[in-house]
Amino acid sequence: MDKKELSLNKIIRRDMVKYAEIAFELSFGEAKETLWYRVKPEYGKYLCEDRADSFVVTFFALAMQRDFNLRSTYPISEKLWYQITTQVMPQLVVTSDGVGKEIEIIADRISESCKNEGGVGTGMSCGVDSFATLYEYTELCDNPEYKLTHLTHFNVGAHHGQTGTFNPELQRNLFQKDVAMVQRFCDKYGYQLIAVDSNLTEVIDKIYGYMDFNVFHTYLNVGTVLLMQPLFARYYYSPFVNLDKFHCSLKEDPAYYEKWLLPNLSTEITSFYNSNKNWTREDKLKQIVNFPQSYKWLKVCVKSDTNCCKCVKCMRTILGLEAIGKTDLYSEVFDSKIVASSREHLKTYMLCQVKKGEVSHTEIYNEAVKNGMTFSFKSRAYAFFYRLCLKLLPRKLYFKIKQKSMNDTLQVDVNELFSDASVKRREEQRKQAGKH
Ligand SMILES: [Zn+2]
Repeated sequence: MDKKELSLNKIIRRDMVKYAEIAFELSFGEAKETLWYRVKPEYGKYLCEDRADSFVVTFFALAMQRDFNLRSTYPISEKLWYQITTQVMPQLVVTSDGVGKEIEIIADRISESCKNEGGVGTGMSCGVDSFATLYEYTELCDNPEYKLTHLTHFNVGAHHGQTGTFNPELQRNLFQKDVAMVQRFCDKYGYQLIAVDSNLTEVIDKIYGYMDFNVFHTYLNVGTVLLMQPLFARYYYSPFVNLDKFHCSLKEDPAYYEKWLLPNLSTEITSFYNSNKNWTREDKLKQIVNFPQSYKWLKVCVKSDTNCCKCVKCMRTILGLEAIGKTDLYSEVFDSKIVASSREHLKTYMLCQVKKGEVSHTEIYNEAVKNGMTFSFKSRAYAFFYRLCLKLLPRKLYFKIKQKSMNDTLQVDVNELFSDASVKRREEQRKQAGKH
């Protein structure tokens, strides 16, 4: 039987009073969906409606994973076509442990460039990655052609709230809160922010079921940038890992192969790069402490619209700052009272993570020890028994004891300590659900 096809049948451009929109009329077998992207009216002039680059980049990895072809009545840029079909897809087929299927992209090619304003962009969430990139490509950059001109914030899946399921209301709510905060930051410091709202994740969920954003984020974000080729000549994406961790699979986070992937998603008009040189997470923190714009605006929390100081990301960031003795600079975003009262707990939490072999905490730990951080006997003993429990106890009993002891003594949500385990469990549940 022939493979199913996701078809881009029509691109429709609308200029409304409140927003400018570009909509893709899609069909997949009997299913018909309209995928839309909206920006403020003044940015409507940058939306690209003569080519299907955005559509192809957004969907080809998903198509390989779910085994369907792509068809477009609009052409794809010649360079992008070449790179995807000869460089990227063939490798993803052999590196993805059977998950990446060979697919076809049926579309004409276009070699004429569109006009381009030479804009330089990066995503802004007010997190560590965003501030590291903003600092690097404003204050640390002496080449005007590479300095940032625009910041972006996209609603294409990042606001999933770590729930492991698709929840459109939660996602929209988180997006609206985040984009309002980022807009306030940009207004204060005079940055141009291009916020893109979209129903992309709703459309994908309707047609294909749950999609793990962490496996597709680079494709979805780059696909969205390619809607604005008349604006962006360069776009930076902050990396999570360096090439020493290179690993390439459609089962996992593209961050592990992004340095190879990003240049191959560039077109004649827009080039993509990783920012932040070879900085690790801790290196990025060391950079942004020199950037006062981050002091009152750093926001890393995954649970709340202000930093809760208790979730995994808050704890990791506070510990990272503690390790270099710079927590005081961020007293307005991480409540100093909570930080002071939970310092010992946080250290114990870090030791447990190190015992578990967690990479970013091990990095923070090494930095902290280098800078003279000490640990109480109680913390060390706790971490030792934690490791012992991890090895020896039957799972159920282990969870019970952990739950009790963590809640009583560490005051952190025990579930956070098992995020790896819960991610695996959710993956298994999804696989099971997929079989029926
Ligand atoms: Zn938090």
